[in-house]
Amino acid sequence: MHIRGQKTLVCGAGGFIGGHLVNTLFAEGAASVRAVDIKPFEEWYQVNGGADNRVLDLQLRESCLEAAEGVDAVFQLAADMGGMGFIENNKALCMLSVLTNTHMILASREAGVKGFFYSSSACVYNGDKQTNPDVVALKEEDAYPALPEDGYGWEKLFSERMCRHFREDFGLETRVARFHNVYGPLGTWMGGREKAPAAISRKVLEAKHSGKHEIEIWGDGHQTRSFMYIDDCTKGVVDIFQSDILEAINLGSSELVSINQLVDIAEDIAGVRLKRNYNLSAPRGVNGRNSDNTLIRRYLGWEPSIRLRDGMEKTMAWIEEQMLAGVASK
Ligand code: NAD
Repeated sequence: MHIRGQKTLVCGAGGFIGGHLVNTLFAEGAASVRAVDIKPFEEWYQVNGGADNRVLDLQLRESCLEAAEGVDAVFQLAADMGGMGFIENNKALCMLSVLTNTHMILASREAGVKGFFYSSSACVYNGDKQTNPDVVALKEEDAYPALPEDGYGWEKLFSERMCRHFREDFGLETRVARFHNVYGPLGTWMGGREKAPAAISRKVLEAKHSGKHEIEIWGDGHQTRSFMYIDDCTKGVVDIFQSDILEAINLGSSELVSINQLVDIAEDIAGVRLKRNYNLSAPRGVNGRNSDNTLIRRYLGWEPSIRLRDGMEKTMAWIEEQMLAGVASK
């Protein structure tokens, strides 16, 4: 289904990826964009004046019906989530996103929505396949047999399957992408829900500005990850939505780095060298994780490829602006 000329809805539009996606949908020629989030407008990272902006709690069925009314295409990104520090300590809250996903897909069906995009996560992958930092990149089939991240990952895996069955049984055109760590400007960078690239950017910049040249790193720094810049993510959402890819597909960078290498990059950009203090009791997630991009390359002929160094420069410039302006995180 093409986005051009369609009436669209972004759920979670006050958040990081949703906020960027609203702009992308306008650029793609959407006839209209309704932007919905539970947060008050002052806490949205971006409010696009051209959108139909609404504050609604999408865990509630009535709010989902209101949001979906008259819409052709739904992009469901609303979730109670954060980085490892948040999801390891808030498993019940993460699982309650099942209310949002269930009510939103039901409401979409009732409203006669044609296309439904769901943002899943690399946290659905079987933990036993992620115990070694020298990772073999995760292929889509590695989600089964199921042993996802406790709490957050189980909910995502359940909601993925619900999308599949709504398509098979009810004919709702669902598309599912498994995002691997997304980063960039206009997202969470402090407060406890931030993810590694934002947290490390902030800590390195704080050290630079305070002159206290030390940094705390969660874990031993050898754990490996890949990080996708936001522009690759929104392009992927659009392309996957418009494709005929029926299975849940990886949307992530395959540029694998250790957390220590990520700190090297942040230090280079900030022009500082810091003493590293490793906190071995902090949440650290799986040992290694990367995205196998064979499928996305085959289907779409491209893969996320914005270099980590380039994306981190933009992200750190934005975080530094926020810090210097004394802005509190949302
Ligand atoms: P985010 O926290 O910045 O945005 C999510 C938004 O959903 C928030 O603004 C939040 O207020 C909103 N929300 C939560 N509960 C709601 C409710 N009941 N009603 C309405 N809105 C509600 O997170 P993000 O990084 O933009 O992530 C967007 C989606 O992508 C999420 O589903 C997340 O699980 C998924 N994802 C993100 C990443 C990543 O690295 N950022 C990785 C994998 C998957």
